[in-house]
Amino acid sequence: MRIDLHTHSTVSDGTDTPAELIGKAVQAGLDVVALTDHDTADGLAEARAAAASTGIELMEGMEVSCRRAETSVHLLAYGVDAAHPALAAELAKVRAGRSGRLAPVLDKLAALGLPLSEEDVLRHVGDSPSVGRPHIADALVDKGYVRDRAEAFDRFLADGGPAHVARYAIELADGIDLVHDAGGVAVIAHPWGRTSRVVLPPDYLRELAVEHGLDGIEVDHHDHDADAREELAALCEGLGLLATGSSDYHGVGKVDHDLGCHTTDPAVYAELRRRLR
Ligand code: AMP
Ligand code: FE
Ligand code: FE
Ligand code: ZN
Repeated sequence: MRIDLHTHSTVSDGTDTPAELIGKAVQAGLDVVALTDHDTADGLAEARAAAASTGIELMEGMEVSCRRAETSVHLLAYGVDAAHPALAAELAKVRAGRSGRLAPVLDKLAALGLPLSEEDVLRHVGDSPSVGRPHIADALVDKGYVRDRAEAFDRFLADGGPAHVARYAIELADGIDLVHDAGGVAVIAHPWGRTSRVVLPPDYLRELAVEHGLDGIEVDHHDHDADAREELAALCEGLGLLATGSSDYHGVGKVDHDLGCHTTDPAVYAELRRRLR
């Protein structure tokens, strides 16, 4: 069983439509794939329909933008009811923050000598309700200002970078409670990736597990080195947390994130499924 619990489509900042993503997941030999677009469930219906005509199992999810104090943190929510009123309201607020951030980012880029129009960016946003920095990065690539998304982030768009503008997000502990209220399972995405372990130290992860019933942590992820994986796996073991693994596939939007490059143990997946019932 090959299980990949974290991927993105064009409904957020990936480059494959949900149906294309399902097709590629089948080709990659996956048995289970989760679609976890940023702050939206809008791609799930298409993914569900595409999965139904193949043998693959779709785990329905999303990646909710949260924050720990002022730092952005991502929370994977599996099996949530996206129509749950409090969750739907929260996601609408996050997406409004994403849209509202575009103009100030473009102002900063213009001041840096990299003029872009809103249309330049919206072409890459397409039908996505979730405007992201990767769309801005793609517009910068189009203009020839940078080679690829990675360079756009490294030079301009990364947290703390010269064209970075913070946006609204819910505090992580409240996000976990909200996911549970909406019937979902809550797994922190890549906690020790770009968000350094200083932001989510072991004691705080323990507190989230004990006081908020955090379900799991994404351990096997491209952005975690061997030491981080070993330590997070031990932490999960000690706390009874689900330790997941996944690609965080974004199509051609991110290199070294091929479908199935990291996977989740079938026993861990079975327990995640059990918690959804
Ligand atoms: P946003 O959703 O607007 O906060 O942008 C964050 C998204 O940008 C993440 O989900 C990643 O897909 C992408 N991202 C962050 N850092 C990088 C990077 N260094 N290179 C490429 N993509 C990145
Ligand atoms: Fe992304
Ligand atoms: Fe993420
Ligand atoms: Zn992701």
